[in-house]
Parts: sequence; structure tokens; C-alpha cells
Amino acid sequence: MEHYDAVIVGSGPAGMGAAFALKSAAPYASVLMIDKQKYSTGGMRNDCKMNFTYPIGFPQEYWDKQEAEEYLEEVLEFLQPEILTKTNLHVYRERAERLGVSMIEVAQAHLGTDGGLELIKRLLKELEHRGITLSLNEELLSVEPENRILKTSGRSLGYRTLLISPGRQGFRFLQQVMDTLDIAYIDNIVDVGVRVETRIERYPIVKDFYDPKFMFAQKVRTFCSNSGNAYVVQEKGTTSHGDSYYSVNGHAYSAKKGDENGMVNFAMLKTVGLTEPLASGQHFAENLAHQAMLLGGGRPIMQRVGDFRLGKRSKRGDFNHDLYDFPPTLRTCCPGDISLAMPAKILRCIWKSMKHLDTIVPGVLHPSTIMYYPEIKMYANKPQYIDHHFRVLDSIFFAGDGAGTSRGITAAWASGIRASRGMAGYL
Ligand SMILES: Cc1cc2nc3c(=O)[nH]c(=O)nc-3n(C[C@H](O)[C@H](O)[C@H](O)COP(=O)(O)OP(=O)(O)OC[C@H]3O[C@@H](n4cnc5c(N)ncnc54)[C@H](O)[C@@H]3O)c2cc1C
Repeated sequence: MEHYDAVIVGSGPAGMGAAFALKSAAPYASVLMIDKQKYSTGGMRNDCKMNFTYPIGFPQEYWDKQEAEEYLEEVLEFLQPEILTKTNLHVYRERAERLGVSMIEVAQAHLGTDGGLELIKRLLKELEHRGITLSLNEELLSVEPENRILKTSGRSLGYRTLLISPGRQGFRFLQQVMDTLDIAYIDNIVDVGVRVETRIERYPIVKDFYDPKFMFAQKVRTFCSNSGNAYVVQEKGTTSHGDSYYSVNGHAYSAKKGDENGMVNFAMLKTVGLTEPLASGQHFAENLAHQAMLLGGGRPIMQRVGDFRLGKRSKRGDFNHDLYDFPPTLRTCCPGDISLAMPAKILRCIWKSMKHLDTIVPGVLHPSTIMYYPEIKMYANKPQYIDHHFRVLDSIFFAGDGAGTSRGITAAWASGIRASRGMAGYL
């Protein structure tokens, strides 16, 4: 049986951050990274905008400002991104403050989906250069902590220390690991909302600030803005009962190509944390997705703001009629009525926030603006970490979005570095 000093599961930013930091701390350690996909590296393949300001992407129960900033310095130093300049922010900030909305100024870089692929190529070369072995198309199936052995889809492997960072899509796998290894956990939050799409001239703030971050009352926020050559996309998920559903998302290509489509999209998300009687946030979110699929004939629902305001569903004709001046970039969605599918409290909070946003950036609620539903971000239940480095059992660590230690590329990378500091103690 092959043996490695450290095995890292998942080649997303959390796994990358851990692998590079571990190899720097222990240059002679053998490090293996596996990924179940045929390609690397997780969520960096999408849009790849990177935020370098706390608390963006950093769950505050695990990170304070000082610690996050120290790790962000390391991420910055490694990735060497070009930070975008921001302009006219005082105008938006003043309008936001009048409404009790806060605008967070964030140091950002944007590579775009194509630029992200270039970065990935660079990272793969760097892995090779530093002697880190990457094995793609290899899935972790189970772990035997007492013997420090793991089973993948192709072999058994011995390890001294193990990091499991399977991303948001891997949250169910992490749940399975926690159940089989008896790792205690508590229920996590879920983020639920809509993706808004409009013409860039109706949300021109993105020319001043690529991914503007507004925090509204009742835990609603703007999230993941994409512009220039931007598209709404759908991602397939499966509920714990095996039913398929779609959640929408967005990405953009880098602006270099000169083939902009002139569109912008961003999410308006509300964070929901269930307390008493404690029910599973994941099951709640899955039920919402299921309800949306029921009403959308197995597809996400899209609705023009004009129809929403009139309290009527959108119809196919509303998406190719000259009354409205742009077609949806995700054409496969079902025209419908979001208010039939979304719980009233979530809808009220999001709509109120959108009206505030329309006061801060007038025009975003033009009748042609499209809202797509559902956009759902699920995380694994929160493991009870037994040390500061996200250790869950002797020599086993979790990190990244799936494990709830991050919500974005840079924080995932930082959480991987933080886990690696603990892993180094086992080498
Ligand atoms: C469409 C889209 C756009 C996004 N845009 C941005 C953005 O612009 N900026 C931003 O900051 N964030 C963005 N995100 C979120 C970002 O991708 C994540 O925050 C980040 O990738 C999390 O990193 P991670 O390492 O935790 O997980 P991931 O990047 O998801 O990596 C996890 C890896 O683990 C692998 N894996 C899972 N289970 C197993 C297993 N059992 N065995 C082996 N391998 C396994 C997966 O194949 C995957 O490659 C976007 C996400 C999506 C889906």
C-alpha cells in the first residue's frame, strides 16, 4: 500500500492553500492531493473574483479580523493578483447610509472564468515544481482513522495527516464522514435568494466597484456580481431523497476579449439559521429547491420585475417580446411567479432590500430586470472543531466552503493554510 505524509482531498482553493503551505513548512514531506473530478481545481474555474477584505468570505464564528488579515496577506503574496481600482464610492456610500444599509469596501481582483483557467494552469505547474502529487479522477470513499488508512475509488492509502476539503458540493459527503467517524456537529445556516440580471447601464456601479457588497437589514446581502461578459448559469444538485434540483449562479469572462454582452448579474441572498425546534437547514433548503422545481417543471423560475410588481407570473412571451429589451442569458429557465415558490418572510426581506438597492443605484429595478430563483448556498453541518486549526479527529482536518470555514476563494485558501499549520504537527 502506498503511503503519504499528508493527503489532501479536493483540489479547490482550500486544498491548494493547504498543499503549498504544508510543503513550504515541511519541504521533505510527501504530499498527495486527490480530486474526484477529471480536472482541477474546484470552484476556481468559475468567474474567479477574489476578495481580500474581512469579513467577506470569512464566517465570523471562526475568524476575527486580525487573524483573517494575517492569512489574507499570505494568500495575496502567493497569488499576486491585480487589485481593481474603485471609483465614486462616496456617492453610493452616502445613499446607502441614509437607508441604514452598509457598503463594505473590498479589495478585489477579477480574473474571469477564462482568467481563472490560466491561474489553474499556473498552479498545476507550481504543484509539480514543488513536488506535490496531484491525482485527478480519484474519489475519497472512506477513512479508517484508527489505522490512518483511507480508501479511494482506485486504491487504499496510508497517511499521517489528512485534510478533507470537498467544497460546497461535497457537503453531503462531509456529513457522511461526520456520521461514520462520529464527529459531533451542529446545524449550519443556509443562504437563500434570487439572482438578479439586468443590463449593465441599469447597474452601473459595477464599473466603479466590480463586486459591490451591500449588507441590508435582516441578513440580506448582495453577493457575487458578474459583469461585462456575464452569464447566469444553473448547477444541478440532489436532495437527500435523491431528487434532482437546480440552483442558479453566475459567472463572467474576463473583459479582455472585447466581446462583452453588456449584462450584469448578482445574487440577493438572505441567511436563514433555524433554531427552535431545531430542524435541518439543509432539508429546509432542499424543500425550497424542490418546491421551485415543482413549479418550474424541473427548472429554475425566472420572472421579470415588471410582472412581479404587477403580481402576475411571467410567460414565455415576456422573454422574447419587444416590450422587454434583453433576453435571459439562462434561457432554459421556466417563466413563472417567484412569489408562489419562495417563503413570504424571505421574499419580503429580499424585495425590501432590492427596493433599497434601487435607491442606491437607481434603475436596477427596471421592469425588464429578471429575477431567477432559487439560488441556494448549502454548507455541511458545522463540525465541532477540536482545535484552532480545524481538526476534527486525531490528525484529520476539514477546511473550505463545505466545512463552513469559508465562503469564497480567498477565505477557502486561507482556511487551507490555517489547517496546514495543524497538519504540520503530525509530520
Ligand atoms: C458558478 C460559481 C461561481 C463562483 N464564483 C466565485 C467568485 O467569483 N469568487 C469567489 O470567491 N467564490 C466564487 N464561488 C465560490 C467558490 O468557488 C468557493 O468559495 C471555493 O471554490 C471554495 O473552495 P473549496 O476548496 O472549499 O471547494 P471547491 O473549490 O468546491 O473544491 C472542492 C474540490 O473537492 C473535490 N471533491 C469533492 N468531494 C470529493 C471526494 N469525495 N473525493 C475527492 N475529491 C472530492 C471536488 O471535485 C472539488 O474539486 C463560485 C462558485 C460557483 C459554483
